Amino acid sequence: MNTDLLVVGSGLFGLTVAERAANELGLKVAVIDRRSHLGGNAYSENDPETGIEVHRYGAHLFHTSNERVWDYVNRFTRFTDYVHRVYTRHRGEVFPMPINLGTINQFFRAAYGPDEARALIREQAGELAGTDPQNLNDKGIQLIGRPLYEAFIKHYTAKQWQTDPSELPAEIISRLPVRYTYDNRYFNDTHEGLPVDGYTAWLERMADHPNIELHLDTDFFDESQPYSKSGTVGRIPVVYTGPVDRYFDYAEGPLSWRTLDFEREVLPTGDFQGTSVMNYPDEDVPFTRIHEFRHFHPEREYPRDRTVIMREFSRFAGNGDEPYYPVNTAADRERLLQYRTLAKQERNVLFGGRLGTYKYLDMHMAIGSAISMFDNRLQPFLAGSAPLESGDGDA
Ligand code: FAD
Ligand code: UDP
Repeated sequence: MNTDLLVVGSGLFGLTVAERAANELGLKVAVIDRRSHLGGNAYSENDPETGIEVHRYGAHLFHTSNERVWDYVNRFTRFTDYVHRVYTRHRGEVFPMPINLGTINQFFRAAYGPDEARALIREQAGELAGTDPQNLNDKGIQLIGRPLYEAFIKHYTAKQWQTDPSELPAEIISRLPVRYTYDNRYFNDTHEGLPVDGYTAWLERMADHPNIELHLDTDFFDESQPYSKSGTVGRIPVVYTGPVDRYFDYAEGPLSWRTLDFEREVLPTGDFQGTSVMNYPDEDVPFTRIHEFRHFHPEREYPRDRTVIMREFSRFAGNGDEPYYPVNTAADRERLLQYRTLAKQERNVLFGGRLGTYKYLDMHMAIGSAISMFDNRLQPFLAGSAPLESGDGDA
């Protein structure tokens, strides 16, 4: 086998490691993916009927404040000046998200200034104001008070997670900013945008190197192919970005995941909802949000009489479903520790990415951690100065 390194999974984590190893060290890298396309969940394709770029695994918005990651991704694509804004439809009325002064004033039919709004929310957070809650329910009430929490967060979260919010970690909601200004940008990061010629063109450029060989429709656990687990581990270094529990044949029990179902529809109108993402926080609507893809690229020439929308439904992942969000219950965290111990004992195999570490990583975080893995572990090992071992941050 004329390969110096095997990368399992061609998502942003795997592609970054492969690109670094090929470009920086001149290594011969094989990248395998069990799907029939590269790019993992960031993959996109043009809808055959309308030509509108659709993100097959859910809308992906690139944003980062990490200068090193920003410089790195700009080697492969330019970004548009798209700025993400989300609206939410509650009881027949549309409000801006994340919760900001506009949302608060519309909800309470008021014209509060920032200080008045803060005082009101503090009062409505009641006994939780000023505490440090550890679960999503208490954190949500503490951040925005009970009435706003019940309107915009409680049922959306119940639909998204189907787990009692008092059992969910507070971090999930900490991702959403709350602002006492009228700024309704969804992200706080310094850099934001969408790849000018689409995600797939970007991802293909990362893999476009004579030393990188890409093998699609190739499953690491399929013993009949040369890059299988038994054919490679112990022979060549492996960076594995598939699910960590699957690698160990679920020896410590399965980790729980949420999966999503996407219902795609072409509608005979040039504009269905006037914006790219509309959330549905009420309990009587079964989906969590609707994406309308044309609005991600207002600069493009798209048909004016048709549009593509995608309704998003969330549920627990069963066997054979795509794992999307780690649920991260106390039992999961316990199992993860056991898998990390096993991962450390696995010689010459590193575990990375969203599935390999059981962590919710945004794209910039997956890229950033792949760059760190390359710099801190792979490069010293390949230069012959260090053994290849998983570290605490890896798995
Ligand atoms: P993945 O992209 O999941 O890639 C892993 C790859 O490994 C897959 O291609 C899989 O097929 C392959 N694989 C698994 N098992 C095997 C096996 N046995 N053999 C061979 N190949 C295997 N991030 C943002 O920054 N902004 C967003 O707006 C955003 N939106 C998101 C929306 C959704 C619904 C989801 C689920 C994620 C979103 N993300 C977003 C996160 C983003 O998708 C991840 O950061 C990124 O996909 C991580 O890349 P990865 O390489 O770790 O994993
Ligand atoms: N959330 C909510 N209402 C909303 C949007 C988000 O309750 O309108 C909560 C929900 O629990 C969700 C979390 O905030 O899981 C994080 O939202 P984000 O939009 O960042 O999630 P993602 O896009 O990753 O699904």
